[in-house]
Amino acid sequence: MRRVSVFGATGSIGCNTVDLLRRQGGAGAFDVVALSGGHNIALLAEQARDLNAEIAVTAYPEHLDDLRNALKGTGIIAAAGDEAIAEAAARPTDWAMSAIGGYAGLRPGLALLEHGGVLALANKESLVAAGPLMLAEAARHKATILPVDSEHSAIFQALVGEDINRVQRLILTASGGPFRDWSAERIARATPEQAMAHPNWQMGQMISVDSASMFNKALEMIEAKEFYGVGAERIEVIVHPQSIIHSMVAFIDGSIMAHMGTPDMRFAIGYALNWPERGNLPVAPLDLAAMGRLDFEAPDEDRFPALRLARRVMAMGGLAGAVFNAAKEVAYDAFMARQIGFADMAVYVERALDSAESRGDHNATTFDLDNVIGADRAARIATREAIGLRQAS
Ligand code: NAD
Ligand code: MG
Repeated sequence: MRRVSVFGATGSIGCNTVDLLRRQGGAGAFDVVALSGGHNIALLAEQARDLNAEIAVTAYPEHLDDLRNALKGTGIIAAAGDEAIAEAAARPTDWAMSAIGGYAGLRPGLALLEHGGVLALANKESLVAAGPLMLAEAARHKATILPVDSEHSAIFQALVGEDINRVQRLILTASGGPFRDWSAERIARATPEQAMAHPNWQMGQMISVDSASMFNKALEMIEAKEFYGVGAERIEVIVHPQSIIHSMVAFIDGSIMAHMGTPDMRFAIGYALNWPERGNLPVAPLDLAAMGRLDFEAPDEDRFPALRLARRVMAMGGLAGAVFNAAKEVAYDAFMARQIGFADMAVYVERALDSAESRGDHNATTFDLDNVIGADRAARIATREAIGLRQAS
């Protein structure tokens, strides 16, 4: 039986992953090693019992007693904290899902790569902050990274049997989010509640807000550059409000391969779970006649400056991705806490890039975890300071 783990099991991607594991036979078909979660202990314990996991870990030590109680009598190990998550990730698996939200997914992702096998990577932040390190670790341990972001899974599927040197450009589709046709003035006044309401996809809170600001697409541009190793000039974004085409690859002969389907992340998770084969997935078939039409429009980098900032990050290179992601996460927290406005997020991220560039923080002769951690920490401190927040202890 395949040994599998799911990190971030209680989140949006995690629940969809657990759903597919169950549909494909659950505890009878998979040897489930580790499941990790956060505050939702009841859900984590229910998943761990149902899949008969070896170990369940919550990120938060204050929930350890609750988790232990919920797992009493099952023989499933309960653990808590960042170290425990890293240790659980070090347990050998054949297939693992990295779906912790944000920068916190980096260390478990690196630990998962150490035992080879397949890493289904939803955590885009680890590629943005530490792409060269993730790829080097994968090569060193003969691990395979399969992208789970819908755009990158679409591109991966369009590239099967193809030569990346024959690719003219990667075309990432973007829904445009809830503010696609809003004026700049209205966007600037947007509230967290408005930003969280994504028109097409059911996702976690941070990625929903990042979709509204198009920071999500910015992260994905960098993710594409890191993962596929193509230059920034070969990465294009097109707004496609229906989210039916999940992304495209344009080849040098003028052909464009598009991946289409209903907006349901289980297509990408299931592709990674069954790779290199295709499994039967519970994804609703696409009714093209009912759909009627597909629309496209150019993205507006004035109303959505995150896209412009992504190009700057790609031009800066080095540790600029780590700076960008860290500043974005701090600005996101401040926006959600109503300490800054929606449009201010891009302002503070740009400022973090300015100061990193003027100090040369993004330059690194070697690309290792210490450098990434240093760049991340410096950018968080600088951004909190710029916003006027007290430093986290
Ligand atoms: P989510 O917020 O729904 O779930 C996040 C999971 O990570 C939860 O299990 C939570 O408990 C855990 N977690 C949060 N903070 C943690 C921390 N500090 N330490 C350890 N665990 C922590 O998020 P999501 O929408 O499922 O997204 C997860 C990842 O997948 C993100 O990197 C996101 O960008 C990516 N992704 C998500 C979607 C989607 O449709 N939701 C699509 C593409 C990519
Ligand atoms: Mg995506």
